[in-house]
Amino acid sequence: MLVTKPHLFTAEAERPAAPPVYVTLPDIEAAAVRIAGRVPRTPLVSSPSLSRLCGQPVHLKLETRQPIGAFKLRGAMNAVLALGQEQRQRGLVTASTGNHGRAVAYTARELGLRATICMSALVPANKIEAIRSLGAQVRIVGRSQDDAQVEVERLVDEDGLTQIPPFDHPEVVAGQGTIGLELVEDLPELALVLVPLSGGGLAGGIAAAIKALRPKARVIGISMERGAAMAAAIAAGRPVEVVEEETLADSLGGGIGLSNRITFALCRDLIDDVVLLSEAEIAAGIRHAAREEGEIVEGAGAVGIAALLARKVSPRGPTAVIVSGRNIDEAVHRRIVSGAAA
Ligand SMILES: *Cc1c(COP(=O)(O)O)cnc(C)c1O
Repeated sequence: MLVTKPHLFTAEAERPAAPPVYVTLPDIEAAAVRIAGRVPRTPLVSSPSLSRLCGQPVHLKLETRQPIGAFKLRGAMNAVLALGQEQRQRGLVTASTGNHGRAVAYTARELGLRATICMSALVPANKIEAIRSLGAQVRIVGRSQDDAQVEVERLVDEDGLTQIPPFDHPEVVAGQGTIGLELVEDLPELALVLVPLSGGGLAGGIAAAIKALRPKARVIGISMERGAAMAAAIAAGRPVEVVEEETLADSLGGGIGLSNRITFALCRDLIDDVVLLSEAEIAAGIRHAAREEGEIVEGAGAVGIAALLARKVSPRGPTAVIVSGRNIDEAVHRRIVSGAAA
């Protein structure tokens, strides 16, 4: 049983009824066993420059080294491996155009399954090509992400395809949580984890692992100021609509779903704080990653570094920063690293 936010409650009597916890340490340990050998264990490397800046040891968890360039392979692979043979053989479907779409496509290819990725006519050609080159079928429908999602549901209902959602799914969350197990193994004295936060599969999974194994360690979610859906939901006490805005952290865009079943409760109960960043701060994170750490990192992947540079988080012990992905448009990356403003 996970004890959530212990620092907020001074007396046993003040504790609210235990919230539903959908993903727990045994789920995450099972995920680690399931994906072993199919999803690489990523390195945790020291950052001398951030350690100097913060006066504490700071380490980077390089999910940029995953074969699709982002951590989402963990959740997708775990969710698919947890399916029965019949569900797998019907083929996989999702509406994500970004890293989750790549993860589902890669997983399908690895396991010899069919994958269909639905996307709107507005998705840029390079994103379509990235998914096609992984062997998935691309289906272009409508002019919005919502239209693409309607097509996913039609394929599930009429053709029996198996949907793999990007975050609000227990096996997806458990898969992302395997990062937490690796962190505790590699940095047993860990005091703080900085996690990029969007739908909350990554942060919820990592927090579930960390709070079970290292209850005193803090887990902080980091989003952009422009359209931070989980931060708005936590503030409102329930999932709310947010207007999606353009941001350098494009992999953090989108809502958490008004009928969110898992990640809202996990993040609300297990994350200690949420920090929001400006576009200029995110750009500084990308630039630092390239110049000081020698890593190509996308906006969403650089928010942990950016939060430290902006001094919006103050480590008080050994710190792990989740560097979640590297899939950034090359021209945008060049412009930011050369020093142009966000
Ligand atoms: C999806 C994604 C995130 C956010 O993960 P959630 O589970 O939606 O919170 C962060 N960084 C990158 C690179 C991503 O692709």
